[in-house]
Amino acid sequence: LFRLLPFVSQLNGIRGGFAGAAPSVAVVHDFLRRDNKPFMSLGTQPYQRLQEGIRFEGLSFAYPGYEGLVLDQIDLWLPKGTTLALVGSSGAGKSTIADLLPRFYDPIRGRIMIDDRDLRDLDVRSLRQSMGIVSQDTFLFNDSVRNNIAYACEQVTDQQIVEAAKRANAYEFIVNLPQGFDTAIGDRGVMLSGGQRQRLAIARALLRDPDILILDEATSALDTVSERLVQQALDELSRDRTTLVIAHRLSTVQKADQIAVLDKGQVVEVGNHESLLQRQGLYARLYTMQFSENEQPICTQQVTAE
Ligand code: ADP
Ligand code: MG
Repeated sequence: LFRLLPFVSQLNGIRGGFAGAAPSVAVVHDFLRRDNKPFMSLGTQPYQRLQEGIRFEGLSFAYPGYEGLVLDQIDLWLPKGTTLALVGSSGAGKSTIADLLPRFYDPIRGRIMIDDRDLRDLDVRSLRQSMGIVSQDTFLFNDSVRNNIAYACEQVTDQQIVEAAKRANAYEFIVNLPQGFDTAIGDRGVMLSGGQRQRLAIARALLRDPDILILDEATSALDTVSERLVQQALDELSRDRTTLVIAHRLSTVQKADQIAVLDKGQVVEVGNHESLLQRQGLYARLYTMQFSENEQPICTQQVTAE
């Protein structure tokens, strides 16, 4: 049992586990050690760069120890260099799909294919090194800005760090910190705003130049200016990159090559923004409800003013 304990606590920490600080750019190299999880095959074939794309084939999933499918026969095709946005109400299964890609979990049925290879045949370490994960809960260390950006990159020059910071819209605020790139950012980045933390995570991801990008781009915590800066940085990061995004921003959804609408673990619609609006199905309803809610504050103000 004690041998399993570290694994269990790590598993809980994958997302939302420890006080909202899930790994943002999750290069969790040692997360799955063979001795911790002997029943999970770690694969042997080294990951090579993506050639064609990622295919989800009849993917079903249930959380260990829980009844009921969280994902039910998911079929999706994400061609290399394009963006697939996942939308759907809370609990639909979006984050679970995102977690299966770096193999935080394995499907109970079906499979994920990277080109013509089952994810489970690939060496999990090299697979994760090829992925950048950026979420709202950025995982930062109580270390300097420089080291937080350089995290998990072994040989990196100051020049490259500065370049990544610039492309991530982070350079400006960094040079205005008391010690610039040498400023210690405090435990989990408490010295920084939410948007600043996110842009550091993006700089980190840019530096690693991941082949595959997974974004959970919740921005509820960000103010408008911050959101715009983060948005620009995310655009820069995902350009020409194979991207799976759990989309909360209208602009991301509209620009995505494909949008998959999830409902209770099933993909109920796939298409681009225009085609899905025309369908007048769940996407059209979500769009009216959820994605136009930034108009609400204006309403509220008017009401209060009266
Ligand atoms: P979404 O990201 O679309 O909000 P999730 O993928 O987070 O949805 O969750 C899908 C379903 O799986 C929900 O019913 C949720 O309660 C359940 N779930 C999520 N994480 C876990 C977990 N670690 N253990 C058990 N059930 C979970
Ligand atoms: Mg989620």
